[in-house]
Order: sequence, then C-alpha cells, then structure tokens
Amino acid sequence: MFQSEEACFSYLAAMRWPTGVECSNCRRSELWLSRRRLWECKNCGHQQSLTEGTLLHRTRYPLKTWLEVAWHVCEQKNGLSALGLQRAMGFGSYHTAWEWLHRMRRAMVLPGRNRLTGEVEVDETFVGGVKPGKRGRGAYGKSLVFIAAEIHGVTIGRIRLKAIPDVTAETLLNSIDELVERGSDIVTDGLSSYVGVSARGYNHTVSRHTPQVGKNLLPHVHRVAALLKRWLQGTHQGAVGRDMLQYYLDEFVFRFNRRSSSSRGLLFYRLIQQAVAHQPVPITQISPKGQSTEVIEPGLRTKKSTYTLMPNSRMNNNEPLHRFVLAPIIRAQTENIRTEDLRIKTVILSMKRINPFAQSYLRKITARQDIELLESLGLKADETKPTNRQ
Ligand SMILES: [Zn+2]
Repeated sequence: MFQSEEACFSYLAAMRWPTGVECSNCRRSELWLSRRRLWECKNCGHQQSLTEGTLLHRTRYPLKTWLEVAWHVCEQKNGLSALGLQRAMGFGSYHTAWEWLHRMRRAMVLPGRNRLTGEVEVDETFVGGVKPGKRGRGAYGKSLVFIAAEIHGVTIGRIRLKAIPDVTAETLLNSIDELVERGSDIVTDGLSSYVGVSARGYNHTVSRHTPQVGKNLLPHVHRVAALLKRWLQGTHQGAVGRDMLQYYLDEFVFRFNRRSSSSRGLLFYRLIQQAVAHQPVPITQISPKGQSTEVIEPGLRTKKSTYTLMPNSRMNNNEPLHRFVLAPIIRAQTENIRTEDLRIKTVILSMKRINPFAQSYLRKITARQDIELLESLGLKADETKPTNRQ
C-alpha cells in the first residue's frame, strides 16, 4: 500500500496540512523543503519537520511503520490486541506492540468533540474483574463505566464511555454534563444519584423505579454494555488494567461510532488525521519509566498459577506486608480473569523497583508464612533462616 518513505511522507504531509504546508511559527505558507525533509519558512526562517508537534513527534520509526500499524488497527472490525499487533508487524517485543497500540488510542479521541444530543440513555456498568459468580467476590476488582447512548428509535446513535470511580450523584451528574449537551432528554433508571438531572438543565425521564431485574427499560445502553464486555473479553481477553481503561473505552467508542459500512472505510483516514493533529505524547505518559504498568495483557502467558490468595487471608494482619506486597498481588489477581505466576512476579518486581521501603521490607522478612509465600512465587526473601516460631 505505502511502498516508499517518500510516498508516506507525501501522504502524511497532505493529511497534516490539507490546504498546503504552513509555518508553525508565523502561519505563512511560503516554505521550501530542504533535502533533509525540513521545511524552512521564507518569511521568518523557522524550520519544521513533518512529525514535530504531532503524535509522531521524534519518532524512531519509519513513517511506513506508522501507516502500517494504523492500517492493522483499522483493518479488523474489532481491532487487535498487542499480541496480535506484535505478530502482524513482526515486532521483537510484546511491549513495543503494546506501546504502539496505546499511542494509537490517543489519536482515537477528538479534542473538544461534540456532546451527545437529542434523546440519550445513560447508565453505569461494571467491567473486568473476576468472572461473575466464579469466586463470589461480587464487584471486587471491577471497574465502573458510565455509558451514554443516543436513542434513534430502536437503533443506537453515537455513544460516549467514561471510566468513573463511583456512582455518587456528583460523579454521574458531572459525567452527563461532560458528555451530553444541555437541553437534551436524559433517560435513566431509578437510581437516586440521578435525581438532580433536571436541575442541571436536562429533561429527565426515569425509565424504571427499582433496580430489580425485569423488563429491560434501558435497552440501548445495555446493548452497548454487552458489546463492550464482549470486546474486552474477545479482542483483549479481559486483560485491561484499571489505569488504562479509559483509553480502551476511547478505542471502543471510536470504532462503535464509525461502525456503519459507509464510515468504516474512513476509520484509517480519521486515525491518521487525528494522529497528525494530536499533540506529542511522551513515552513516560504511556508507560512510566519505560516500563509497562500493565503487566496483564495477554502475551505473557505462562503456566497457570496454582497459588491463590484470598483477600481475607490471615496474612492481612501484617500491615506493611499487606500494603506493599500482598495488596498488589490481590489486585493483580482480582483485576484479571487469569492469575499467573509470571504476572504476579512482575508486579512484585516492579513494585520492588519503585518502592525502596518494600525492597528493604522484603529483605527483612523472616516469618515462615511470609517466606513460604515468597517461595511459592519463586522469589527469595532473605538468606536469614526463619525464626523458630511455628
Ligand atoms: Zn514562518
């Protein structure tokens, strides 16, 4: 498709400056292109490159790689996981592919995009965490997502998704403010947090008065919730870290709002267009210290763990151990469907790197039960033998 760097350069330049190259300093459009592919302004002498000030800022990769990655991201209806991209592109490391996808996701939100209008259903749903019913921990480890969907008769118009911390009135009403135009018709369930919707300048309809299971009175948002869960489970195998959830939601919305066959073809175009219009995103914002904070996407698959740790284990009495060692393990276990030794190790190891206190604590561990725990995870606590408390 894009044979040469030259062709890619021309394509991206046309995407960035559809009406012709413009000086980013003085806005004049009289520039000449040097042999090193830098534009120099004839007016003010300012030099600029194609990628500076965009999502591709200071890229180490050929432009061709950018376009190929974007192509793979858009080619499949549901997108692809980092593992899928790694295979498709032949990247040496999983982490490289993971970073690429997160960079692409940044281009999937239009800055200052329009709010939803007309008749809009809103609701919240839980995603992620342990499979319902499997360990009976209810909502523990799950993340809340606020959903807003335009009602176009029986079909769904545009949608918006937002990761939210709770279902308080403040959170939900602010989410509505952010995502839906004032004066629109809002349809909710009977949750008391929605009582103030009218006061915020919307027409409020309550579709049901009890949260009991019954006839589905918010069919549009519930269909979106079901599709979102299927996408997270299918394409990403449920392996989405809580701190990165919003970016996955952005990708889902980006695809969903362009799901009709006529706009599907525009997906690639839009993605590139937004990538060259997006301000640079430093790598530290995508993965701090060059390390993935998310050790839980598929691709790190090893043998299944036989070690499980319940949140109410007796070890919780040990406060520092719990806070710095066990809590991240529990979190790793409950935020994911699969629990794997390697992942837990990675959590501990990355934690040791960032937290000197945890590191020194791990060295001091002498209690037998703690040593057994670390050994079961393949980690060495200390050379010290356990004291004779049994
Ligand atoms: Zn200039």
